[in-house]
Amino acid sequence: MKLQGFKEIEGIIECVTGLRIGGSNNTIEIGGLDNPVIRNPLDDTPYIPGSSIKGKIRTLLEWELGKVSNDGSVHKCQDNSCPICRIFGTTDESLTRLPSRALFRDAFLDKDSRRKLEEDLRQKKGLLYAEVKYENTINRLKGKAEHPRQMERIPPGIRFAFSISYRIFDELDENYLSHLLHGLWLLEQDALGGCGSRGYGKVKFHDVKSGSQAV
Ligand SMILES: [Zn+2]
Repeated sequence: MKLQGFKEIEGIIECVTGLRIGGSNNTIEIGGLDNPVIRNPLDDTPYIPGSSIKGKIRTLLEWELGKVSNDGSVHKCQDNSCPICRIFGTTDESLTRLPSRALFRDAFLDKDSRRKLEEDLRQKKGLLYAEVKYENTINRLKGKAEHPRQMERIPPGIRFAFSISYRIFDELDENYLSHLLHGLWLLEQDALGGCGSRGYGKVKFHDVKSGSQAV
């Protein structure tokens, strides 16, 4: 194998509805909040981990390419021409580990969105760059709400700069880039992060550009 170069795919990912990617209660102390979003520990601003984008796009492409078996087990194969294993790599220790082609970077707030969260949420409402939504479960027999809980989420309209670096070793990698770009479209139709079936996590990509970099 010989590395020929990289394709850089960059753009903006916008939250069309509230986005919730859970963080840990242990790493941050915010007065009793149950379900915080993941944040940059240095400045407390929320971000989208590359692993979240990668995981969801992988799942959607596996579904579309029929790579998920009926028992729901994780796709694994040793087919060097499998788009899933090429693009996303394989996590199975027993298989030959070929380099995954796509590197999903963490997506950070763009400047305008950062200012918006700073002014509208942090300064005016004392919130830590995210909104707090109250969710509950409706008991259909009794017709009443139960188990109220706080869910933190990134409000609609907030934008993050994302980038994916895609390694090119051969011609098949060039061809498979289209799968990856199609995966962005699939993600727009589906949902990123938690609570997708309740309307969270609709995203839209903007200004997606790709450039080439030879080694
Ligand atoms: Zn495979």
